[in-house]
Amino acid sequence: MAHIGDLLARGRTFSFEFFPPKTDGAQLTLGRTIAELEPLAPSFVSVTYGAGGSTRDRTHDIVAWVRRETAITPMAHLTCQGHTRAEIAQILENYHSAGIENILALGGDPPTDPADARPSDYEYAAELVADVAEAQGFSVGVAAHPEIHPRSPNRAADRQRLAEKLAVADFAITQFFFEADHYLRLVDELAALGCTKPVVPGIMPVTNTSQVQRMATLSGAAFPTWLAERLEAAASPEDVRHVGVEAATRLCAELLDAGAPGLHFYTLNRSTATREIYAALGLSV
Ligand code: FAD
Repeated sequence: MAHIGDLLARGRTFSFEFFPPKTDGAQLTLGRTIAELEPLAPSFVSVTYGAGGSTRDRTHDIVAWVRRETAITPMAHLTCQGHTRAEIAQILENYHSAGIENILALGGDPPTDPADARPSDYEYAAELVADVAEAQGFSVGVAAHPEIHPRSPNRAADRQRLAEKLAVADFAITQFFFEADHYLRLVDELAALGCTKPVVPGIMPVTNTSQVQRMATLSGAAFPTWLAERLEAAASPEDVRHVGVEAATRLCAELLDAGAPGLHFYTLNRSTATREIYAALGLSV
């Protein structure tokens, strides 16, 4: 197993993100997806964490399973809002015992209903980054938002907070976006603040238009008109996937040409789109 910070120091990383399934059927789908993607020899895979700890055990179990049963390096996402320091210390101890060496340290989102709020010792991801770094033995990643986090008051404040997180963390992974300029501007703005840690672009191939449009609205990512029009013109779900894969492939090629330190694919627990993009980019092993 490896520290992702070290992998990025050696060269480009190609990674896949999964979420913890809720049902036995979805669990089987994820198992099949991981088996289908393992031959692509990803640098690492990551597993998301339900805000406030709603998938605490399931995230841990999948990450530990990948560590035990595959040759792939896993990374656990961990959000801090809604957790006490004692809970976070226990979660990190459990990951350490399971041989997990990579944590994506996130703020998470407050519950939509304030009545669901849990006691929290944390407000921002930077506080979790500091605790994970202090726990030692973990490579720490953070989230970056090319089109600005929806709660940031302005662009300068967003970049300043990110640069502060990256002063301690080893790398960042971005929210998804559809045009390379968003990423390139983010990297330039961080460099202007003296921050040159690797920022890996997150790639979301559109395979279901309404689902991705909904996610884009929530995360603050612009859904470009040219892409919406091409998807609307698609006659079948198969055509939609084709358009989505083609657009994502072009974006990946532009990012790699521009020197991106890797690519992180939001797989939504399916392998087909990622495998097609890999093949189109000539990355298949
Ligand atoms: P923060 O860094 O805390 O930033 C949140 C906001 O607070 C920003 O506007 C920031 O500028 C501002 N801020 C930060 N510090 C300060 C300060 N000291 N004072 C004032 N303002 C401040 N969510 C999940 O629930 N589970 C996941 O597994 C998950 N995985 C993700 C993976 C990636 C790659 C990305 C990009 C996002 C992921 N998210 C996940 C979503 C993430 O939790 C949300 O976007 C969340 O709202 C912000 O997380 P953050 O880590 O960027 O938070």
